[in-house]
Amino acid sequence: MTEINPRFHQHEDIRRSVRELCSQFKGEYWQKLEENSAYPEEFVRELTKAGWLAGLIPEEYGGGGLTLAEASVVLEEINRSGANSGACHAQMYIMGTLLRHGSEEQKRKYLPRMAAGELRLQSFAVTEPTTGTDTTNTKTFAERRGAVYVVNGQKVWISRMRHSDLMLLLARTTPLAEVKKKTEGLSVFLVNLQQASAKGMTVRPIRNMVNHETNEVFFDNYEVPAENLVGEEGQGMRYILDGMNAERILIAAECVGDGFWFIDKARKYASERVVFNRPIGQNQGIQFPIARAYASVLAADLMRYEAAAQFDSGQPCGAAANTAKLLAADASWEAANVCLQTHGGFGFATEYDVERKFRETRLYQVAPISTNLILSYLAEHVLEMPRSF
Ligand SMILES: Cc1cc2nc3c(=O)[nH]c(=O)nc-3n(C[C@H](O)[C@H](O)[C@H](O)COP(=O)(O)OP(=O)(O)OC[C@H]3O[C@@H](n4cnc5c(N)ncnc54)[C@H](O)[C@@H]3O)c2cc1C
Repeated sequence: MTEINPRFHQHEDIRRSVRELCSQFKGEYWQKLEENSAYPEEFVRELTKAGWLAGLIPEEYGGGGLTLAEASVVLEEINRSGANSGACHAQMYIMGTLLRHGSEEQKRKYLPRMAAGELRLQSFAVTEPTTGTDTTNTKTFAERRGAVYVVNGQKVWISRMRHSDLMLLLARTTPLAEVKKKTEGLSVFLVNLQQASAKGMTVRPIRNMVNHETNEVFFDNYEVPAENLVGEEGQGMRYILDGMNAERILIAAECVGDGFWFIDKARKYASERVVFNRPIGQNQGIQFPIARAYASVLAADLMRYEAAAQFDSGQPCGAAANTAKLLAADASWEAANVCLQTHGGFGFATEYDVERKFRETRLYQVAPISTNLILSYLAEHVLEMPRSF
């Protein structure tokens, strides 16, 4: 059957290389990992070796120097292959905080080693159990005491900590009551996870709906060297917001990859499965939802490219990036639902991979940013309606 992505020839070299790498990791590989709740170590190692996860690190630091559009194609193709970028995508988007706001010394210390695959920056600690989406209300506090910051507090849903060397941590450094604007007084730190466990950081895994390594983290007088502060103290929220457009666009590309995977899987199954002496796909009741979901994926993909083009040319791209993420997450979820329905009972069988991808793509409605918060951004910041929080 022919390729269904009309943009396949755009960045074709990247697509072919990533597809070839991913083809070594078939459904059974991912099924086995789920059975054992294991991390796709071998898959991530191969992606790292091939340099894909260092794609957004500039060439002067040993990285691939890709544009965001190109980097998004890498993640799209990972998901398009039936794999899941969630095991390793964070390095792509959180690395920007270090790149844009870290000191030259920090960049020289970490980026070349990340590019060489010697260090992983895969973890990003923002969410808290009692704060949720209300990030400026962050309770975790880092108090400066001489050459260190002493951190106390708790984070939740912090992914890949057990498979990362470094983590970016968002903490308050000035109490909320003492700042003029609630976005002030938050800071970002680089935490060395290799040295963390014995010194006041406790990590507890959270079992969840997908095979995703994620954790609760408790800080009890945990010390971070002051030199690990990224950028200026108190400006962390600005740095985090700054990285969000890239994150939204990359995640949109993953959703598009999922969308194409579901459509491909559904059209093939619909063409082969014979019931009432005819392929089920001959019935328009089966065809039309698949065709409709395909149209949604194509539309979302256009928005993702528009957002990536705006980002790569240095234009403000908040509206486009958020819209791309919203539409792509909805399109992949629609495609997932249609694919499962097309498979009937077999959609629930692990060996078809549909139920796994169904669960994985559902996550994009909630994390890294929930749909409501995107709608709220568009309503308040783009359409200038009254603020609700
Ligand atoms: C598998 C997984 C991995 C994750 N990995 C990470 C990670 O690595 N690092 C990290 O920091 N976080 C991570 N998260 C957390 C994720 O970013 C949050 O779960 C997400 O942002 C939603 O926050 P919350 O769960 O606290 O929901 P809440 O803030 O409690 O909100 C609950 C629901 O209410 C809605 N809601 C809240 N306020 C409003 C409002 N004013 N108007 C309308 N609707 C509203 C939200 O949209 C959401 O649907 C992960 C989550 C999961 C499930």
